[in-house]
Amino acid sequence: MIGAMAGEFAFIERLRARLPDPPAGVVGIGDDCAVLADGRLFAVDSLVAGTHFDLRWCTPADAGWKAVAVNVSDIAAMGGRPEAAVVAVTLPPGEPGLADAVGDGLVEAATELGVALVGGDTTSGPVLSITVAVLGRVPDGRAPVLRRGASVGDTVFVTGPLGLATQALDDLAAGRTPSPPAAARLHRPWPRVADGEAAAAGGATAMIDVSDGLSADIGHLCDASGVAVGIEQAAVPRPDGLSIERALTGGDDYELCFTAPDRARVDASFAAAELPAPHAVGAIIGGDRRLLLLTPDSFTDLPTGGWEHDIG
Ligand code: ADP
Ligand code: MG
Repeated sequence: MIGAMAGEFAFIERLRARLPDPPAGVVGIGDDCAVLADGRLFAVDSLVAGTHFDLRWCTPADAGWKAVAVNVSDIAAMGGRPEAAVVAVTLPPGEPGLADAVGDGLVEAATELGVALVGGDTTSGPVLSITVAVLGRVPDGRAPVLRRGASVGDTVFVTGPLGLATQALDDLAAGRTPSPPAAARLHRPWPRVADGEAAAAGGATAMIDVSDGLSADIGHLCDASGVAVGIEQAAVPRPDGLSIERALTGGDDYELCFTAPDRARVDASFAAAELPAPHAVGAIIGGDRRLLLLTPDSFTDLPTGGWEHDIG
């Protein structure tokens, strides 16, 4: 959760400030993936039981799937394709069958998402934790799409509905059964690799995957690009029955959010890839406010919030 200067993002910034700037052409801390000198993409993400998933509500195989999928999503957010992954699994002792059940999800995800699982580490510890590091590459000689390229006047797009995973979590917490699409989004997210490539080919200037909620993630993109944004409430695709605030601040969607100057070129690129057109949800503006446009002539601030780990 949002945690003032004791939070995750302040720590990352303190760490970044203590390290040398990366050489030209290399992207270090601060984007969805690092970009290495040879152009490869490199990222890592951990899922921890009780923090990122709850084994009352999902299977160990779901957790394994998701650990691979969220890493592939960071590759997608650069316009890249995944190549290889290594997986570190920490397992609580005394739970026979847990390791192989996690392994089922890892293998399914590696197979279906097209990433070679080439190594890892296995250890015991207090709770189930799965860490995946992934390597990828941007195809066709294109440059990776960073968070920092958005310009005033660009249209802001999202590749699909926001808030489904949150809706499923809300339902589970209240003892209700989530709808199948919401449950699938929460437990088996499908990273938008093809959409990321289509966005890059369609002239995307900046891109991020929506893992922490659109408000937070478009905020990261705006911070990196030095711009502001206006999001149109009515244009945000969200499930029936979910408030706009939950749709904008709930995490775990794993859709992509990107900016591009030429809407027709974006639509043509998605059509050429036989993908549904992305949703235009707003525009990049000057200044430093992040606005939610309620009607054509009224606005408020984008809701703050979204996922940030409180690390004390
Ligand atoms: P994402 O949600 O796309 O995985 P994060 O919000 O987790 O990105 O991280 C933001 C940036 O900070 C990324 O570039 C990530 O590589 C970097 N980062 C996060 N934690 C650390 C850490 N412990 N050490 C170095 N870099 C980190
Ligand atoms: Mg990301």
